[in-house]
Amino acid sequence: MSIATQERLSAVVNALPLVDHHVHGALRDDPTDRADFERHIAETDRPGVGSWFDSQLGIAIRRHCAPLLDLEPLADADTYIARRRELGAAEVTRRFLDATGTSHFLLETGYRGDEILGVAEMVERSGKPVSEVVRLETTAEDYVRTGVSSTQFVVGFEAYLRERAANAVGLKSIIAYRDGFDFNPEPPSTTEVLSAADRWFSRMAAGAPVRVDDPVLLRWLIWTGVELSLPIQFHSGFGDPDLELHRADPLLLTKFIKQVEPRGTQIVLLHTYPFHRNAGYLARSFTNVTFDVGLAINYLGTRAEAVIAESMEIAPFDKILFSSDAWGPAELHYLGATLWRRGTSRLLASWVNDGDWTEADAVRVATQIASTNAERVYGLASN
Ligand SMILES: [Zn+2]
Repeated sequence: MSIATQERLSAVVNALPLVDHHVHGALRDDPTDRADFERHIAETDRPGVGSWFDSQLGIAIRRHCAPLLDLEPLADADTYIARRRELGAAEVTRRFLDATGTSHFLLETGYRGDEILGVAEMVERSGKPVSEVVRLETTAEDYVRTGVSSTQFVVGFEAYLRERAANAVGLKSIIAYRDGFDFNPEPPSTTEVLSAADRWFSRMAAGAPVRVDDPVLLRWLIWTGVELSLPIQFHSGFGDPDLELHRADPLLLTKFIKQVEPRGTQIVLLHTYPFHRNAGYLARSFTNVTFDVGLAINYLGTRAEAVIAESMEIAPFDKILFSSDAWGPAELHYLGATLWRRGTSRLLASWVNDGDWTEADAVRVATQIASTNAERVYGLASN
């Protein structure tokens, strides 16, 4: 009886089309060797002591990805890498993207875009619709490179952003990386923005790289984004060591969220681990907040079910989204989907078997998280 429930729910959840609402392109070229591949599954630029295959993600790749390359589950890492190189990047990517069961990719294009497939190439490789999410900081830096003066930059940025995001479904902020969520929640005044832009342009004139990290400008970019009324994704929680993780706790955004709420702009908290319970509280408390536990699901491997369970504690189920946050090796696109399907079906089956949920409840909620919540937040159904 209980096994039948588990099997039925697995079959249903495995077949659900997924809207991957925060994902990046797959690698354009093969990793050159095992060490290069391992750098893509580390989420740190620091060397490990041994192999990154000796981590939850590494073992999950051997367990779940090896069969898609015609290997036995848990094939050893060297065999895996050799087979991957034999098949080549194009074939490997096609196999993994096909197997995700994704119906719509929302692709964020603003990070190291030359190494990964862009929107048109992801459409070609996956055969699925791909919509773009535009990164605010990258857009500001692209605008600077057009040769505008600091005053033109301040006056013209909103129009430049509107043009850049004309076909986008959302915006993305990495203020968690460039500053932290403990920023002043008020919109900055024009005087403040003009003098911050002056300082930034002077630094660049003196040879500094085109990289926006001034706290006033970073929050002005966000407030400019709020004017566009597109959902704004915020990197929060887990990421690489450029972060100061304690300043990426989304609870620090509470005053900002309260300011934005009356305008109706959607705040989408990405990743959120290990602050996913805090994100669940914000999603419950405020009308304009949704969140996911993407990225963490991949890196937690067999423990993904635990974080999925914790994400489904205080948050209403219509405020939780699915994402892989895959960047680079298409194993990450595939694992994001597979570990979510596996963890979610096991978790929901356990609740059904305990008599606490009906099977219909389980299927309805899994479908919300898989696709319908993202379709609502990003207005995809009407696109
Ligand atoms: Zn991302």
